[in-house]
Amino acid sequence: MEVAKRLMLENRAWATEVLSRDPDRFKRLAVRQAPDVLWIGCSDSRVPAELITNADPGDLFVHRNIANLVCEDDPNLMSVLQYALEVLRVGNVIVCGHQGCGGVRASLARVPELPHVDARLDKIRQVYRAHCGELDRLDNDDARTARLVELNAIAQVRKLAGMPLVRKVWDSGRALRLHAWIYSLETGLLEERLCLDGTDADASPEPLAA
Ligand SMILES: [Zn+2]
Repeated sequence: MEVAKRLMLENRAWATEVLSRDPDRFKRLAVRQAPDVLWIGCSDSRVPAELITNADPGDLFVHRNIANLVCEDDPNLMSVLQYALEVLRVGNVIVCGHQGCGGVRASLARVPELPHVDARLDKIRQVYRAHCGELDRLDNDDARTARLVELNAIAQVRKLAGMPLVRKVWDSGRALRLHAWIYSLETGLLEERLCLDGTDADASPEPLAA
């Protein structure tokens, strides 16, 4: 069966099954959303936010891009962040990287044949340059990718911590936690690498090499 047709049929089956368990589910969801989490993840098809956290519709406000980047010059990311913090007033922002990330791996070289992708990967190369002493000492690109995945997620969280939109929330006294998580494709498990709540002495943005 053609993929789009199969997805449409699966949707019908899913909606029917949800309604059989909870007839008012969609009516309630249609009225409003009140997620407590903004999820900033990678676009990778193997890291579906709701599925790997067993979350329901309404639980996660989601932004995904290649290699889960947080860039102030990205109007898509910034509008999602602003809406999540100022309208939805989420209490958590999770930046979720994952092992085996193709975007992070690709950043180790140039990909001129994919100019849009290559331009975005410059943001990861900045993280690499800031940690080149540690990364250059690793044996091979697999090890470098694995470590850079972690450093990248942490760097994006530190970047968030320095943004006026986030500082404003913390200055107002509202609780907001920023998390850097890593997902393992091989085990299906998430692990936390950093959590900032605005009281941390190290909540300032990580300096990035130019
Ligand atoms: Zn990825």
